[in-house]
Amino acid sequence: MQDEKIAKITEMLLGGGKMLSVHCGACKGPLFEVEGKVVCPVCGEKAVIAKAEVKSKAAPAEKVESVLLTKLNSLAEELAKETGHDKTLELLDRVKSILEVLEKLREG
Ligand SMILES: [Zn+2]
Repeated sequence: MQDEKIAKITEMLLGGGKMLSVHCGACKGPLFEVEGKVVCPVCGEKAVIAKAEVKSKAAPAEKVESVLLTKLNSLAEELAKETGHDKTLELLDRVKSILEVLEKLREG
């Protein structure tokens, strides 16, 4: 994942966005729920939900993904409250690692 994309995703997480288990059909980035709207950190509100993502049967990889998403969203909350420099960097590092694992899962 590109650093620029990670920066945008992190920014959205810190802004109160919740990362969803669906990705953008246009740029393949993870979609977020912000104030009840589905938004792509890269494309904005023009996000297109990929059709393949809308399925009810959960594959094992999706279970891992949902655990990671829960973790990611709670890390983001922690990060938003954190004021210490070292701790902030540590949390950012963990957010980045999770995003990288999610990316790998999505590539299949
Ligand atoms: Zn997008």
